[in-house]
Amino acid sequence: MTKNLVLALSGGVGGAKLALGLSHIVAPENLLIVANTGDDFEHLGLSISPDIDTLTYALANLDNQTLGWGRRDETWSFMETLATLGGPAWFRLGDRDLALHVQRTLRLKAGETLAAITADLTARLGIAARILPMSNDPVRTRVDTNEGILDFQDYFVGRQCQPEVKSLHFAGAEAARPHPDFRAALASPSLRAVIICPSNPFISVEPILALPGIRTALAACEAPVIAVSPIIGGRAVKGPTAKMMTELGLTPSAAAVAARYADFLDGYIIDHQDAAEAAGLTPRTILAATLMTTLEHKIALAQTALDLADSL
Ligand code: GDP
Repeated sequence: MTKNLVLALSGGVGGAKLALGLSHIVAPENLLIVANTGDDFEHLGLSISPDIDTLTYALANLDNQTLGWGRRDETWSFMETLATLGGPAWFRLGDRDLALHVQRTLRLKAGETLAAITADLTARLGIAARILPMSNDPVRTRVDTNEGILDFQDYFVGRQCQPEVKSLHFAGAEAARPHPDFRAALASPSLRAVIICPSNPFISVEPILALPGIRTALAACEAPVIAVSPIIGGRAVKGPTAKMMTELGLTPSAAAVAARYADFLDGYIIDHQDAAEAAGLTPRTILAATLMTTLEHKIALAQTALDLADSL
């Protein structure tokens, strides 16, 4: 059997960069991008799935590169009016972005699954590869902090990641069923590689790993499991990954990220800057330029990840 299926596990911004690179070099029918849904929440009566949406906008070439989140060519009439009317303005929803959340919410209320809705909306936006929520069942990340337990978006957006993190919980994960196509991909004889995108391990990748059977399936799967470090030179490119590591008693480093995946990781890609860490790592580790600022960087790093997988 030809091994051509590539399974990518992704959060939002960092993950979507590599997922976009993969989408340029893997045929769409052979690429399955599993998205974290632990960041999902309900706001203003709407069902919002930030990581699915970040992936969607990135792969549809509609992402807002100026803001670093949300949709391109955005306008803010809704938010401005909401604020004038005294409504909650802490979580910003642009006018075009809003349409996506409204449509998702309507269809969820009508009984469709998140996966079916995502498949249809991504196709309508011209995406050929498949973006799949990790589960159709709700999983909600909660952050235990020095200010108490916070819902994820209260911590991330409302409090701008300022509270000190003590631990993370993925409410609902134990009872959630991984999407059957996710399970099937992990067991598929045609699986070529699993790529853990350079996403925040604690809030983007570990909610996926917390689903029943996923860690075991990754350890058991015949295809190589490759990760790209989201930490470069001891720092996160964006977001709270390094800050969280320090607060959790870890040294922010590529090696500390690999340790989170020790039970299943076969290959690891770290930045040239972190060459000194390579010797101490157990998975087969290679150095690459891992900062993805252009489409060419994203494609090149995706190719490096597949080459590493094919070499194992
Ligand atoms: P979120 O869900 O939007 O927070 O996004 P992710 O969890 O997918 O991505 C956040 C992580 O991506 C952070 O740890 C960043 O350091 C990492 N990241 C962002 N851009 C890059 C990049 O160009 N290269 C690498 N290696 N990591 C990146």
